[in-house]
Amino acid sequence: MIIDCHGHYTTAPAEAEAWRKLQVQALGNPSQAPHKAQLRISDDQIRESLEGAQLKLQRERGTDLTIFSPRASSMAHHIGDAQTSRVWSEICNELVHRCCQLYPDNFVGVCQLPQSPGVPPKTCIPELERCVEEFGFVGCNLNPDPSGGHWKEPPLTDKWWYPLYEKMVELQVPAMVHVSTSCNPAFHTTGAHYLNADTTAFMQFLTSDLFKDFPTLKFVIPHGGGAVPYHWGRFRGLAQDMKRPPLQELLLNNVFFDTCVYHRPGIELLLKVIPVDNVLFASEMVGAVRGIDPQTGHHYDDTRRYVDAIDWLSDADKKKIFEGNARKVYARLRGA
Ligand SMILES: [Zn+2]
Repeated sequence: MIIDCHGHYTTAPAEAEAWRKLQVQALGNPSQAPHKAQLRISDDQIRESLEGAQLKLQRERGTDLTIFSPRASSMAHHIGDAQTSRVWSEICNELVHRCCQLYPDNFVGVCQLPQSPGVPPKTCIPELERCVEEFGFVGCNLNPDPSGGHWKEPPLTDKWWYPLYEKMVELQVPAMVHVSTSCNPAFHTTGAHYLNADTTAFMQFLTSDLFKDFPTLKFVIPHGGGAVPYHWGRFRGLAQDMKRPPLQELLLNNVFFDTCVYHRPGIELLLKVIPVDNVLFASEMVGAVRGIDPQTGHHYDDTRRYVDAIDWLSDADKKKIFEGNARKVYARLRGA
């Protein structure tokens, strides 16, 4: 079985975006805000949005189950206030839930959290509980920077985040560290901001004792861990200079990386540097990079090919990457 731990509902029917537009237009004039019930999307529309996209690619690429969450760039936690984010997150999560209900063999849900800049993350707990307990979701996407590229929140290791972590541990759900759109023109959303956030989160974990406080808390750092594998020596050296324990002992029971690196040398580097137990297969299709690589003739995000092609990786290790590690990190997959 091949589990893709990173996919977003990027192909949701246009009605969802139109509803969001009305919501944004009504900011500052709440009486004009659209009601959730005004959004009408049929099951057929959902089927159509998936059949020619994620499901088609699953079939073509021979992957089985996608751990599926709302479109990351549309979370846009910086827009409006906590109430704006709450209603929008509910809508996005409910749409993902409907995808999972229509195709229970193909998708299992991960939720968007109703974060808002400067608002304590504990306010996200009710939506997390709803998604996990009522919808059967197996994780959440946690945005370390709800300001959208201006980085105003305390680091992920600050006690500011602890109430949410306590709930994650209780529910046995991991978080994928995932920022949303950048409204800072210095940072391109998918080319810079995402990778910056991945690298930043890792360095925050490295400098703290977060996992002493939460020994079973788990994070997936997507996009191959940003710059982390490439600069592993720098991180090891920094940890050593700071008298921190070796990285393996400090972080690798709790921090995992996905394979959303869109070329073979990158995947090989990831797998040479990061222990195989800490790498989860993912493609992030249909996502940031949708084109075909003229050098290979295949889609950049067809990441299964890169893993399959690595001949120095044993079959047992490939099985861990494709399935076993996801089952370990997303503990609730067992019940899903
Ligand atoms: Zn993503």
